[in-house]
Amino acid sequence: MPRFTFDNTYARALPGTYVFWKPTVVPAPRMLFFNTPLAERLGLELELDSAGLSGTAGAADAALFAGNVLPEGAEPLAQAYAGHQFGGFSPQLGDGRALLLGEVIDKSGQRRDIAFKGSGRTPFSRGGDGKAAVGPMLREVLIGEAMQALGIPTTQALAVVATGEAVYRDAATLPGAVLTRVAASHLRVGTFQYFAARGELEQLHQLTEYAIARHAPELVGTPERHVALLRFVAVRQARLIAQWMNVGFIHGVMNTDNMTISGETIDYGPCAFMEAYDPATVFSSIDHGGRYAYANQPLIARWNLARLAETLLPLMANGDDASQADAVNEAAAQVTQVIDEFPALYAAELLKGQRAKLGLLPNGPGSDDATLVADWLALLQQHRVDFTLAWRRLCDAAEGDANPLRALFAEPGAVNPWLARWQVRCAREDTADDAKFDRAARMRAVNPWVIPRNHRVEEALSAASEGDDLTSFERLLSVLRRPFDENPDAARYADPAPAQITAAYQTFCGT
Ligand code: AMP
Ligand code: MG
Repeated sequence: MPRFTFDNTYARALPGTYVFWKPTVVPAPRMLFFNTPLAERLGLELELDSAGLSGTAGAADAALFAGNVLPEGAEPLAQAYAGHQFGGFSPQLGDGRALLLGEVIDKSGQRRDIAFKGSGRTPFSRGGDGKAAVGPMLREVLIGEAMQALGIPTTQALAVVATGEAVYRDAATLPGAVLTRVAASHLRVGTFQYFAARGELEQLHQLTEYAIARHAPELVGTPERHVALLRFVAVRQARLIAQWMNVGFIHGVMNTDNMTISGETIDYGPCAFMEAYDPATVFSSIDHGGRYAYANQPLIARWNLARLAETLLPLMANGDDASQADAVNEAAAQVTQVIDEFPALYAAELLKGQRAKLGLLPNGPGSDDATLVADWLALLQQHRVDFTLAWRRLCDAAEGDANPLRALFAEPGAVNPWLARWQVRCAREDTADDAKFDRAARMRAVNPWVIPRNHRVEEALSAASEGDDLTSFERLLSVLRRPFDENPDAARYADPAPAQITAAYQTFCGT
């Protein structure tokens, strides 16, 4: 049984922002997934009969990760938070089916939250049952592990246990599950909104000081720390969204309660990867207006940051009566500047990633690379070319073989004029004869060969959930953990879905 060494700062520092609460006991826990590499990074002490080490999970592990037996030192609690959901404010959301068990310090010295998802009703459950189903929890594993392997900040799944209990969703009966989630923290924009909306300034103040100490300790005690915290989150989110965009990831439900202060991706509900390039792509069944469409993600991030900024204003403008009006104006001007700078911050991060994807050096000769990328993307859109494969085949073109790239276009010659421009641009920074091999290798390290293709994810999840067969889940997981390695044996995972499947593909929030 893995042993955690908990050090629960959230519970200690922020009383009044949560409710201590126990997971619901489940009838027949059975281990479905255990993340051994993550357990090692967390520095968990694993005993020999432990899940990931022997391959045959002990009953003790399953009971632990189901919440039936609490690990020593755990102080489970449900966190309060609010959030704008599809633009409308819900003043009280909170952990309706999640519990924070506590925090551990990982091997790199980073504090990590250990939390359950699907562990039963809490005081924040509203109408929900507090449960989760096997399919969506294994989906969270697959996408989270893919993101981690792609180098994108993310929460990660440590374990998934089947509960032996049925969960009812849309007239269907599904097998239930509990997921153990590891995160840099579970602080969200919505956490700040909860206290701001209630006018609880002392709690808001404590929360802010806690967030700064935990995520931006260099700012502790500085007079400008509130606006600096906002800037910190803006920088992290600009980087994160740029990374999403550069792999075609669509989060699907960027509500303010699903946007972290740490800059990690959280909440893999209706997310999915884009196939053929189209900025208007939406997969979520409930996103009727396309609010969270691929191309809107940076705009929504900025909107969410503005909601965070609003919560910080009362903490910034707390002068005496005479200076109050000036202080309010000054604070508003400072946060507005950060929000207004976000688009440029994001554009710079995006272009940095795109230049790497094009095989250009970070400090290569300047030129109009943004136009070069925009024209490339317009070409992919016009010809409905698969986003991931197009970039990957461009790596082959860097090495001298452009035919695999041409073959992605219905009219293979359509890409030639753009290719010629790109080659001229590359040649401007090449000094050595073998530059093309360096370039291809660099490009293959940033342009994934495989992403979680929607039809492959569904195939694996239905076998696991309906057929109780984890073979294809495990196979897919192992491929997704090495996304940059071209592997002919796994070609079926790299191929796009037939267009008619993608056109009809819908995702669900997984509640
Ligand atoms: P999400 O869409 O997963 O980010 O969840 C939004 C809110 O709904 C959060 O407060 C969740 O805790 C809550 N929620 C989602 N699913 C359930 C459920 N099955 N039971 C209770 N609360 C839930
Ligand atoms: Mg959420």
